[in-house]
Amino acid sequence: MTHVATDQTILVVGGGISGMTAALEAAECGKRVVLLEKSPTLGGRTALLYRYFPKLCHPACGLEINLRRLKGNRNLRVVTMAEVTAINGTRGDYTATVRISPRYVNDNCTGCGDCARAVQAEIPNPFNYGLDRIKAAYLPHAMAYPQRYVLDPSIAGTEDGARAKSACKYGAVDLDMREETLEIRAGAVIWATGWEPYDAAKIQPYGYGLYSNVVTSVEFERLADPHGPTGGRIVRPSDGREAKDIAFIQCAGSRDENHLRHCSRICCMASLKQSQYVREAFGDAGKSTIYYIDIRAIDRFEDFYQKVLKDPGVRFVKSKVARIAEDVKSRDVVLHGVDTEGYHRYENRHDLAVLAIGMQPSVPAGKIPAEVIADSSGFIESAAAGSGVFGAGCATNALDVNRAVQSSTAAALRAIQVVNRIARAEA
Ligand SMILES: Cc1cc2nc3c(=O)[nH]c(=O)nc-3n(C[C@H](O)[C@H](O)[C@H](O)COP(=O)(O)OP(=O)(O)OC[C@H]3O[C@@H](n4cnc5c(N)ncnc54)[C@H](O)[C@@H]3O)c2cc1C
Ligand code: SF4
Ligand code: SF4
Repeated sequence: MTHVATDQTILVVGGGISGMTAALEAAECGKRVVLLEKSPTLGGRTALLYRYFPKLCHPACGLEINLRRLKGNRNLRVVTMAEVTAINGTRGDYTATVRISPRYVNDNCTGCGDCARAVQAEIPNPFNYGLDRIKAAYLPHAMAYPQRYVLDPSIAGTEDGARAKSACKYGAVDLDMREETLEIRAGAVIWATGWEPYDAAKIQPYGYGLYSNVVTSVEFERLADPHGPTGGRIVRPSDGREAKDIAFIQCAGSRDENHLRHCSRICCMASLKQSQYVREAFGDAGKSTIYYIDIRAIDRFEDFYQKVLKDPGVRFVKSKVARIAEDVKSRDVVLHGVDTEGYHRYENRHDLAVLAIGMQPSVPAGKIPAEVIADSSGFIESAAAGSGVFGAGCATNALDVNRAVQSSTAAALRAIQVVNRIARAEA
């Protein structure tokens, strides 16, 4: 077991935009920070978006700025493939036990890609929510940090693993890597493990997994992205035909006692934004219909909503869609429900249905190895009395990037206050 850091260190768990922000804010205030990320790269789910509302800018900008700040900061240590399994101790004096999974690629990696060309096995591409496949030796995405390839564990010990090793001119493929355990001492912990999409297959009336032209909003981000599985062409998974008439189904899993009780707060804005992807792709031929209970576009997002309301290519139907069927011949999706403004039943046909899927904590509070106060959905509401473990970003609620960043800065401040007290006591 390797031991690192001291109790004046701040430990940040989760390397999405929230964890990166909290880590940078603390490190730029002169604090020692260890940032842990369970996947092979920093960036989290924002790196998987095509554009950001409300300005429709590309997430790469924000990510690049943070990575530049991070690379220039000597107080900050990043550990990827790392998951906390236990946190012992009290405020000001914690010891976290961390499991490090093998990457099978060491620091010598130049990112040349020869290993990927050499291996034959393919795996579902995590960056595209499994919509396409990639080689089992891969760089997670173009902006990945660290810029190091990773070998999928399924090829370690196989002929493919050996092929990757012999293809690498830099001695970077290390098939002897094993799981490691790390112990980290820290005065305060920031828990920033973010969110995950609700499992759409559980919403049975919507036929996700049954009908190929029913996709989720997170998958739609990838379909619209030039780096996505279709090179940015918005097409139907069933037949590759352009999907010019799209239904967006709000509250898919959210505000529903059978699924997630809470409003996921982001999904209205996500669908409004995605209707603009359809316009961008097809001009006047692009048609979006948003089926909604009520549109929740808070604060400054209201302007964006008002703009989309004026778009003749976007139609709003006030209705909770009851069920989705499929026309077996055309593979069109057929939506059934009642329009609650006119109170008439509809049976509407579209090329593609996009489920505005709910957001839930990726590590619900009950699974966090420390005491926190949580709401009924498992988001962290606040730190427990006298605790030095603070929630940040979407671990605390379904938040847009701006609010996630604000929450992370607040968490960094609280953590700094804890380690400052230790420093004063030791002086
Ligand atoms: C369809 C859709 C579209 C959206 N579009 C926008 C938009 O246009 N504009 C906007 O402002 N917001 C948008 N959002 C919201 C945005 O995605 C979130 O605000 C953002 O991802 C929050 O970042 P985060 O760091 O809190 O969480 P995440 O992005 O989820 O990052 C969490 C990180 O923690 C890591 N992690 C998880 N568990 C562990 C663990 N046990 N140990 C270590 N690491 C762990 C994960 O691998 C991940 O890297 C959208 C959301 C959806 C659903
Ligand atoms: S592991 Fe080796 S072959 Fe693969 S990208 Fe890195 S340097 Fe290139
Ligand atoms: S943000 Fe909109 S779509 Fe999402 S749960 Fe709330 S009301 Fe429903």
